[in-house]
Amino acid sequence: MLQTTETTETTQTNGLLAEADKSILFTTKRPHIIMERGEGMYMWDTEGKRYLDFIAGWAVNALGHSPAVLRDALAKQSSTLVHASPAFYNKPMIQFAELLTNISGMDKAFFASSGAEANESAIKLARKHGAMRMNGAYEIITVTNGFHGRTLAMMSATGKPEWETLFAPKVDGFKHVPINDLDACFAAVNNHTCAIMLELIQGEGGVNAVDEAYLYGLRKICDMYGMPLIIDEIQTGLGRTGKLFAYEHYDIKPDILTLGKAIGGGFPLSAMLTTDKYDIFEQGNQGGTYTGSPLAMAAGHAVVQEIVASNLARNAELQGRYLKSKLQQLSGELPISGIRGKGLLIAFDVPQGLGPKLVDECQDNGLLINALKSSVIRLMPALIVTREDIDGMIAILHRAFNKLLTSA
Ligand SMILES: *Cc1c(COP(=O)(O)O)cnc(C)c1O
Repeated sequence: MLQTTETTETTQTNGLLAEADKSILFTTKRPHIIMERGEGMYMWDTEGKRYLDFIAGWAVNALGHSPAVLRDALAKQSSTLVHASPAFYNKPMIQFAELLTNISGMDKAFFASSGAEANESAIKLARKHGAMRMNGAYEIITVTNGFHGRTLAMMSATGKPEWETLFAPKVDGFKHVPINDLDACFAAVNNHTCAIMLELIQGEGGVNAVDEAYLYGLRKICDMYGMPLIIDEIQTGLGRTGKLFAYEHYDIKPDILTLGKAIGGGFPLSAMLTTDKYDIFEQGNQGGTYTGSPLAMAAGHAVVQEIVASNLARNAELQGRYLKSKLQQLSGELPISGIRGKGLLIAFDVPQGLGPKLVDECQDNGLLINALKSSVIRLMPALIVTREDIDGMIAILHRAFNKLLTSA
């Protein structure tokens, strides 16, 4: 009987995988499993196999999979008002803007659906500032190996060498300088510069943090020229690094702040926050069909309120410290080095080529981790992660290492 059920499930899964191959446009190589259900730190595939999730939907599922807080907010709001029109206010929009400005100390919020859109808004705002107040300055200085999204303009903003020639012609007006090199940034500023934009810990670029002195320097340059410092906290924001915002680790504040990923706990949502000084868009400059949609706003409000109320930033700090200490222990007997990151945005180096093999081996053993490059592993579990989850993750990782190293 059990045998028959398993066979049916496998047949169904294989049928779906064949259909996926036929009808889904290729953009990335995906493993031959189909995710079906999630709860807390776990996901299950269509075969009923369980995975301990240290990717968390790419640092998105801050409260874990399908949290009650999010389900309830979606159920309640969807039975009240799903979509009004971007041309009307709605209650959740106002409440969410108030919450975000309160916790960040910023004054104004603009909402969108993805991180790239929030960053596009930031660039538009900086260029508006340049046009109005800086004699038409339009150029944005960004950092090599940063990541700001996949729209054409954000591909230009992103300092990823592999993207240099992709989808030419590129959107003009971005200049890249190496991270933590203040002199290079100073040298890059000219009459056309209207903003500096960066992540405080490069997420996709390898989990590299900016130095304190460097960031103070950038803040000073921006103040000196009267231009905005744009901080992309799409990956680092809302508790991930052990503080509500990564800039709280440093003693500075941005003029423009972008949030995404964790902000909707899995519901597509992003935000750009700024100060009254930059409340300068005119009618028609910026918008979007889904900006401030009631359903998204209710989801975001519920998720962010829960992150704050349960002090998940504190949990991220504590568990992150524990996770790092366990990795440090492992590094005594395994080829693990360069353990880095803050809170629950952690990476470490492994020998070249081992990264993807570790990912596959862990996945076979019911653990999801991310290889940023063939030699870098990144961990970004939900902010609700516990010591027991970390112990479970470390045990599987340890076994996977041992298996790969002995079979090599
Ligand atoms: C993921 C990410 C983005 C892009 O967000 P999307 O929702 O994929 O558009 C931008 N910046 C940073 C730092 C990110 O991590």
